[in-house]
Amino acid sequence: MKKGIILIVVLVLGMGMPAEAKTDYHSASYVYLTFDDGPDDRTPAILDVLKKQKVKATFFVTGRNAKRYPTLLKRIAKEGHAIGLHSMTHDAKLFYKTPASAVAEMKETQVIVARLTGKNVYDVRVPYGSVPKMTSEHIKKMEAAGFRIWDWNVDSEDWRYAKRPKVTFERVALGLERTAERRTAAVVLMHDHATDPVILEKWIVSEKKKAAFRTVQQAKTSYSFFAKWPAKK
Ligand SMILES: [Zn+2]
Repeated sequence: MKKGIILIVVLVLGMGMPAEAKTDYHSASYVYLTFDDGPDDRTPAILDVLKKQKVKATFFVTGRNAKRYPTLLKRIAKEGHAIGLHSMTHDAKLFYKTPASAVAEMKETQVIVARLTGKNVYDVRVPYGSVPKMTSEHIKKMEAAGFRIWDWNVDSEDWRYAKRPKVTFERVALGLERTAERRTAAVVLMHDHATDPVILEKWIVSEKKKAAFRTVQQAKTSYSFFAKWPAKK
């Protein structure tokens, strides 16, 4: 009898273990598409592409733009994309001034997003990324406020190549090769205001054959420059 109970316990634990040990970033097929700085008048074209291709992405919005384009923010949420917070001002001097100012800007953005979409959002991307301006005190305060910080491991530099979007997607392809070598998921940084929707669609169509697109909400562990996803051995 006792042996039987022990066996059941061992079996149950054994069944639970692989799921717990498994991380959701050690999959080279996972792609987290992220769009920063919106919403703005370029957002609808991107949303149209994502809708047509049935792909979900994450939009790290500024509070300022969310207020300016409330209908677009609502559309992002309604179409099943994740919303992340990207500060109020996007001004490095103001945002990083103190740990408290960084938290305050994110909280203000959080309130605006909640008011417009009914969603309480804790995934954040700090302006220009967490390195080098986030001090350990900034990180500590931000995490204490419940925020989860996201950087990226594939930088499209779409803003730099806005007039040569093909270069942007060549860079993304190279970046994805690199994350695949490390056997980790890819967090791709793009911008509503800089990504070319026509090339984006072409890229999604070819990428969809091998990639599984996810939103940051589906990830258990965020990727940041100070806490990178380790390569899978
Ligand atoms: Zn930005």
